[in-house]
Amino acid sequence: MAIRKIVERGDPVLEKVCRPVTEFNERLHTLLDDMAETLEEAGGVGLAAPQVGILRRVCIVEDSEGEIIELINPEIIGEEGEQTGLEGCLSIPGRYGVVTRPYKVRVRAQDRDGAFFEVEDEDITARCFCHEIEHLDGHLYTERCDHLLSDEEVEQYIKDHPEQFEEDE
Ligand code: ZN
Repeated sequence: MAIRKIVERGDPVLEKVCRPVTEFNERLHTLLDDMAETLEEAGGVGLAAPQVGILRRVCIVEDSEGEIIELINPEIIGEEGEQTGLEGCLSIPGRYGVVTRPYKVRVRAQDRDGAFFEVEDEDITARCFCHEIEHLDGHLYTERCDHLLSDEEVEQYIKDHPEQFEEDE
């Protein structure tokens, strides 16, 4: 496993539409293992292949139990409700915006061996599914918020919405 470099906003690789994965081989497994290690090191909850410079439809999401969900060729097949909250991206370090997303999302994807599966989750994990899958079409969350918050605005937002920042345990 190896830590890969996360590209930042402004790099054209983040604006490209990624190609589907057709070969579920060792190379893909290495990419997934490296992405998991890179995500852990960066302290995020999701990472898409274009963020490490690979234009393939691959992303990983860490769920609320700390499990890494590997999504190959993912598609959102169901959405329910709505949530509005702070969103960030490892490719835009230290910045946040207020983004509205569905509250619950169902995704169909393939696993690292090519088997199809479906996964459903809510809250932050659902937000993360939407965010990461959008990366695969060259979109960033900044397209969905009117501006990136200043540090003061982030502080104020956290003060105004304490319920969104309570620990679950
Ligand atoms: Zn992102």
